[in-house]
Formats: sequence, C-alpha cells, structure tokens
Amino acid sequence: MINVTIYNEFIHERNDEAVKAVYPNGIHEAIKELLSEDKNFNIRTAVLEDINESLSDEVLDSTDVLFWWGHLGHDKVPDDRVNKVCERVLAGMGLIVLHSGHYSKPFRKLMATCCRSKWREDGDRERVWLVEHYHPIAKGIPEFFDIPHEETYGERFDIPKPDDVVFISNFSGGEVFRSGVTFTRGLGKIFYFRPGHEEYPIYYMEVVGKILRNAANWCYNEGFTAPTFGHYEKR
Ligand code: ZN
Repeated sequence: MINVTIYNEFIHERNDEAVKAVYPNGIHEAIKELLSEDKNFNIRTAVLEDINESLSDEVLDSTDVLFWWGHLGHDKVPDDRVNKVCERVLAGMGLIVLHSGHYSKPFRKLMATCCRSKWREDGDRERVWLVEHYHPIAKGIPEFFDIPHEETYGERFDIPKPDDVVFISNFSGGEVFRSGVTFTRGLGKIFYFRPGHEEYPIYYMEVVGKILRNAANWCYNEGFTAPTFGHYEKR
C-alpha cells in the first residue's frame, strides 16, 4: 500500500459561496475521491485549521506521497511543518504540488526561486499538451485535453530547470505555461501540476484523476536503500 496524505488549506470552500457550491466538502475530498480509484492507496487528509495534528511528525513520517493545495493560507503554515515536509522530501517522500501551491512555503523552499508567474482570472479555456509521452505520469493520457474554464497562468514561471516538462498549457491570450514539471530534491521526487483553480470543477475530471494517480505512483519511492552520511569506517 502507498500511504498518501492530501493537504488542502480548506479556506475558500468555507468563505466563498461560489467555491462552496463546487466543492461542498473541500478540494481535499474531491481529490481523495479521484485517488480512491487506485486501491493501492491508503489515503488521509489534512487541513490548515488543525495542521499540527493532521500533518504531525507522525503523519508525515508515515506518508509516502504528499499532495499540497494552498492559496490564501500559505503564510499561516507554521515553519516547523514546512521544515518537516522538506526534510521528508529529502529523505524520499514524494510531493505533488497543485495549482496555487506553487507559492506555498514548502515548494518555494525546495525550489529556492521565487516561484511566481503571471496570471489572470477570466475563465479562459486551457489546452493541456502532453510533451513527454514516455513519462510514467503520461501513461494513458491523450496528446492534449481541454479544461473549459480555468484561471490563466503565463510564463515566465520562475522555477529552476525541471528534470522533465511533462505538460505545457496554452490559453486564448497566447500565454503558455509549463503545467506539469518534475524535480528531484535529495531522494524525493516532486511533481508540480498547474490545473486546479478553486472556482472550477477540475478535480472531478477523469483525465485529471488519471494524472494525479499516475503522479502518486511515480513519486512513490519503494524500498530504496537509505544512504549513510558523515564519518564512515572502511569495511
Ligand atoms: Zn487559482
């Protein structure tokens, strides 16, 4: 079994009627539903309100893959939780950062760049192109798919050079964006996936579910040998 934890700050869905109508139980529950199709996942959820418990050391130490959705509450995430997430990634935990999570503290710390982009919010159509067909995250995904209404992000997206650019999006204003990118930090694999603005029903789309399930399986580091660091006797 792969232990998956989904962190969602869970603020928009309680403060904003329009968002509540789309995700009455929160974005984390919609993602959980998508991931549940893979019977190999043991899924927990965590929210900002009780982050010290729902994302405790114990939870993170027993998490193989962590999903992260945040926006309004980035700065409210305690630094010791951020440090613990980053420490776990370096030790081999997979991390999947969604949409506005590009500006979350753990992602910025792991990237060490500002991680900003340009954006506009007018419900534009997003076309997501698959560009690395061989990648495990791309398995069973069509060459392109459309999201009827999305928030627009545009380059430059200030990230370090990714290991792979799996998806690129375009929008009607001509903007392009590296929408699916992978990184390695320490022993941990990281996938950033752009779609998922809170006002649109994106986490009900089957193709998005397939990508997130593929990504969780790809990020999972199964039974690797932990390295020895520091002073070492000849043997
Ligand atoms: Zn957004």
